[in-house]
Amino acid sequence: MIEKAVVVGGGTAGWMAAALLSRIAGPRLRIELVESERIGIIGVGEATIPQIRYICDALGIPEHEFLARVNGSYKLGIEFVNWGRNGDSYIHTFGDTGRRLGILDFHQVWLRSRELNLDKEFARYSFNARVAGANKFSPIEKLGNTGIYGIGYAFHFDAALVARLLREVAEKQGVVRTEGIIENVAVNPDNGHVSSLTLQDGRQVSGEIFLDCSGFRGLLIGETLGVEHEDWSHWLPADSAVAVQCENAAELAPYTRATALSAGWQWRIPLQHRIGNGHVYCSDYVSDQDAADMLLANLDAAPTTEPRQLRFRTGKRASFWKKNCIALGLSSGFMEPLESTSIHLVQAGVSRLIDLFPTREFTRRDIDEYNARTHFDYDTIRDFLILHYHANQRDDTEFWRYCANMSIPDSLKDKIELWQGHGRFYRNDLELFTSASWVQVFLGQNIVPRDCHGIAKVLTPQQIEDYMGNIDDYLTKVVAKMPTHAEYIEKNCRYRHET
Ligand SMILES: Cc1cc2nc3c(=O)[nH]c(=O)nc-3n(C[C@H](O)[C@H](O)[C@H](O)COP(=O)(O)OP(=O)(O)OC[C@H]3O[C@@H](n4cnc5c(N)ncnc54)[C@H](O)[C@@H]3O)c2cc1C
Repeated sequence: MIEKAVVVGGGTAGWMAAALLSRIAGPRLRIELVESERIGIIGVGEATIPQIRYICDALGIPEHEFLARVNGSYKLGIEFVNWGRNGDSYIHTFGDTGRRLGILDFHQVWLRSRELNLDKEFARYSFNARVAGANKFSPIEKLGNTGIYGIGYAFHFDAALVARLLREVAEKQGVVRTEGIIENVAVNPDNGHVSSLTLQDGRQVSGEIFLDCSGFRGLLIGETLGVEHEDWSHWLPADSAVAVQCENAAELAPYTRATALSAGWQWRIPLQHRIGNGHVYCSDYVSDQDAADMLLANLDAAPTTEPRQLRFRTGKRASFWKKNCIALGLSSGFMEPLESTSIHLVQAGVSRLIDLFPTREFTRRDIDEYNARTHFDYDTIRDFLILHYHANQRDDTEFWRYCANMSIPDSLKDKIELWQGHGRFYRNDLELFTSASWVQVFLGQNIVPRDCHGIAKVLTPQQIEDYMGNIDDYLTKVVAKMPTHAEYIEKNCRYRHET
């Protein structure tokens, strides 16, 4: 059995890994986490997807308690503004839309309504979208026996408070924190395994398994073990961001907003006490100064921090696990924050590592399995992200023209072609985003199939109006009775400062 694990880095990735691993492994596995306050953490990463809720379950922290500790709010989806065309707006929610009609997915009924010129906005039939549009929230799991899906939700939170909470949990579970800058990494010449770290003051930290959570630098996986970074900037061209916080707006929205700008997009993440904002852009098309100016011009209220500049490279590592080192978080790769998938990839990585946790033998086949499954996660999420950029009809700036005309992976091309015919979509194996997500983004970006399913064609205008009208009326009634997002938070999970 492995008795000692070393986590390099104390950002969201490092502390999340330490908290989860110590919870599962208990005192049999000693865990030491090394981080440097002088280097600090990236400090962004405040929007999530619904899988974040498993963290609460896994760590035994009730959701309300978690949100109260991290100044959190609820996220029902992402509103995309100006993506397909300037002036467009659609929401990609975490819930399903409408309800199935026999063998037909709801979107087939909607496509038929469109053919008959009876269509209303697709999101009108999404419970999540209706709740988001009304700035309301309540975690309703099921709408009686209607067959309409309940609310799917994730969280927005303050990244610094999350790191602090995860650290507190991990330390209570026995994780030992070592402060210091790592200056040297020793590798065992016999087997190529990382054996120890030397800190600037000469202290040594040794272990049997090392988790590289050192951020973009990839101190162990890249600098020490030489695992290459596969560059995806030809598909995901953003390479910079500028982030700033501002005062809160009058109404607390239960969704992230992503507004496309001339060479990238701006995020707006509403928390209980402030709004997190950032402009993600490609520096080939806009200068840092102009990017910062555009961000500051688009805030809801006065900024409360200085704009902070960040650089990144989109892509992934050629391997995520090499020898006795597993890269988690930004050291493993980064695909830009558009669909808030990075923290999820940390979670998925840790849970996969727990499934395949090695003995001192480090079985080759297990390592291959870890790598293959993690590549699959990266590649399938990548395709979904590219779709947002590629499927645009903006034509107003060089950046958007590049995205519309760039070559895309064959795997994405196939999905688009299948969809464009008769609105068909198949989710591959365990890929993260469901057909509900893909359908919302396809339609939101104006990729409408040429035809609907043959069986939908027999639906008469009256049948369509009855079926869709029922859903619409029902949702209107349910949403009217729900509390606002702010009221729900005030009652259940208002921020509580803990020292
Ligand atoms: C612009 C932007 C927006 C983002 N938005 C989102 C989002 O909305 N949702 C989402 O899920 N993700 C988002 N992400 C990604 C998210 O921020 C990260 O996945 C997450 O914060 C994890 O980062 P990390 O822990 O890997 O790295 P970091 O936070 O950079 O931590 C690295 C750690 O390594 C330590 N370290 C490094 N070198 C040394 C050394 N030599 N000695 C000692 N310690 C060292 C540092 O001190 C630090 O503790 C975003 C990223 C960017 C760039």
